[in-house]
Amino acid sequence: MSRLIGLASFSIMLAAGPCIAANEAAAPVSHEIEAQLDPASGGLLVTDILMVRGRTELAFRIAPWQAVESLLLDGQPADARDAAGIWRLPLPDAGAHRAELRLRGVVPPLPPGDWRDASPSAVSGAEGSYLSGYSGWIPVTEDDWTAYRLTVEVPAPYRAVATGRLEKEVFGESMNRASFAADYPAEPPALFAGPYTVRERQQDGIRLRTYFHPELEELSAGYLDDAGRYLRRYQEQIGPYPFRDFHIISSPLPVGLGFANLTYIGRMVLPLPFMRGRSLAHEVLHNWWGNGVAPDYAAGNWSEGLTTYMADYALAAEEGADKALEMRLAWLRNYAALPSDRDMPVTAFTSKRHDAGQVIGYDKVAFIFHMFRNELGEAGFAEGLRQFWQRQRFRVAGWAELRRAFEESAGRDLGWFFEQWLARAGAPRFELVDAVASEHDGAFRLTLKLRQDAPAYRLTVPLAVDTESGRESRQILLEGAETTATLEFETRPVAVHVDPDHDLFRRLLPGEAPPILRDVTLAPDTLTVIAGKDAAVTDLANRLAGRLLDMPERSGPAEHPELLSVPLLIIGLTGAVESLLERADLPGVPESLAGKGTARVWTAHRPGDAHLLVVAADDIAALEALLRPLPHYGGKSYLVFEGRRAVDIGTWPVAQSPLSRSLAR
Ligand SMILES: [Zn+2]
Repeated sequence: MSRLIGLASFSIMLAAGPCIAANEAAAPVSHEIEAQLDPASGGLLVTDILMVRGRTELAFRIAPWQAVESLLLDGQPADARDAAGIWRLPLPDAGAHRAELRLRGVVPPLPPGDWRDASPSAVSGAEGSYLSGYSGWIPVTEDDWTAYRLTVEVPAPYRAVATGRLEKEVFGESMNRASFAADYPAEPPALFAGPYTVRERQQDGIRLRTYFHPELEELSAGYLDDAGRYLRRYQEQIGPYPFRDFHIISSPLPVGLGFANLTYIGRMVLPLPFMRGRSLAHEVLHNWWGNGVAPDYAAGNWSEGLTTYMADYALAAEEGADKALEMRLAWLRNYAALPSDRDMPVTAFTSKRHDAGQVIGYDKVAFIFHMFRNELGEAGFAEGLRQFWQRQRFRVAGWAELRRAFEESAGRDLGWFFEQWLARAGAPRFELVDAVASEHDGAFRLTLKLRQDAPAYRLTVPLAVDTESGRESRQILLEGAETTATLEFETRPVAVHVDPDHDLFRRLLPGEAPPILRDVTLAPDTLTVIAGKDAAVTDLANRLAGRLLDMPERSGPAEHPELLSVPLLIIGLTGAVESLLERADLPGVPESLAGKGTARVWTAHRPGDAHLLVVAADDIAALEALLRPLPHYGGKSYLVFEGRRAVDIGTWPVAQSPLSRSLAR
């Protein structure tokens, strides 16, 4: 589902699309729009009066399905040239002018059936209409921002809603009209319509609404409650909500899109519990990060990672420290599974088109904000964010502006932090070389030596030290290739754990994280080995491997898997699998799983650094039953199935982290 939600800033992304040369120092165009839309047929009639000033040409584009019916300049018929989809209307001088366009067209129909990968910018059907601001349903100019007033009329009982402040509604027998305005810098208006039931609530001067398809009506109160709670939270943390309304609109499309003052979510996902939790919080927060301050895409998109950190991660942290740790560890594992040729600096991230984008632009950036908050302290972090918001509200801002706001609020140079985390691809990797405890005249000392790979990072490394009187938290500064630090204690230290809660973005060491299915299924060089020679088993095993693996399947010689130091996926019936593991001198069935259920799936470390994933089913039917459910458990270490049902699921405990050390007396 995160893929859907990842489209959140899709509307902003399209802003970078049209290549129209900027008109320097021209005042942004304002629009006065009247629209008539029939959702069922897609028929759309638009009159748009554009007020322009400070330019000698008005350049714009319109959607290919829209036609210009008439064009008046200062009340007189005018001619615009259409070249390669860009219309150019020469203006007599750089003074104030009024261009009036009348457009008519038919919005493309909703795609039929179960489509997933298209991201249409304009569609319409009986179940709803969606017209993105950049689709060209009105003339789109080169301006970063615009101002507009929009009145839209739809046949009753349809309801229409758009980005911008809701000004007026008129309900007629055959028509419903609604007017919206944006007199602050805004993107071109996005327009939505559908057979909606509308519910409303006022909170702190903000109008909250749901526009839901009738079958979702009973979900409305819960959505309004939660949206209100999130709005209040972010107002307290960052600053006043920059808009007057917030709408949650149900979509016939399987999307999760965020716009200024509204979110547009597939009617199929609205009933799912996670939608009202982290996903809704994420979309609400985009009103500050993304739509309130727009990221400077050319310099890297910081808004997804910051939104993930302050919404998704903050909600996990509220559930408990273990949930927060789980999320950080998942981010580190995802990064560890990213092949190095797909790694990139976070400044190269613009939007999520691939998994690599998710890992860098969401996970790594969110982790950078986690470390940054640890560096500044909670109060300093919050103050920097408030300053950034106050200065950049309704502007385009990049990492440089974020850095400046934080440096000014902290009163110190933070260049080293931004340079090492933003400009470089990769992550630090360090080892605990030595840990020695000593005693002098009743005082206890612990001397630690840490070594890191080049290029070196400056890291404040958290430590947990177990002493005879309990656990103490300390930290040491790691700079350069190697650092030796001596710490003093009142009682004897007995063990040390370096970065025990995974607070640093770094490369996990072998053995530090328990192996999970994804370690094998995402690896580019995984080899599939089918145990036994039964044709039906081979066929099923190949189908299962095809569903599990990210990369095309490569099959290997069953006789000598022990010779290959690559990740192995072994699939077969229980007896054949057990004898193969024994023959190849690989770890056997874990005791905790032996004999349970109808099929067992587990990961294990192999000598060297490669992982092993074993699927052992008791018979053909038990193997076939895994085809659908198993691919959903990539983050787990082991599973026991009874038919299709996973009855025991878990992650292996970490026996001994290479960053933990017992201290000899
Ligand atoms: Zn987002």
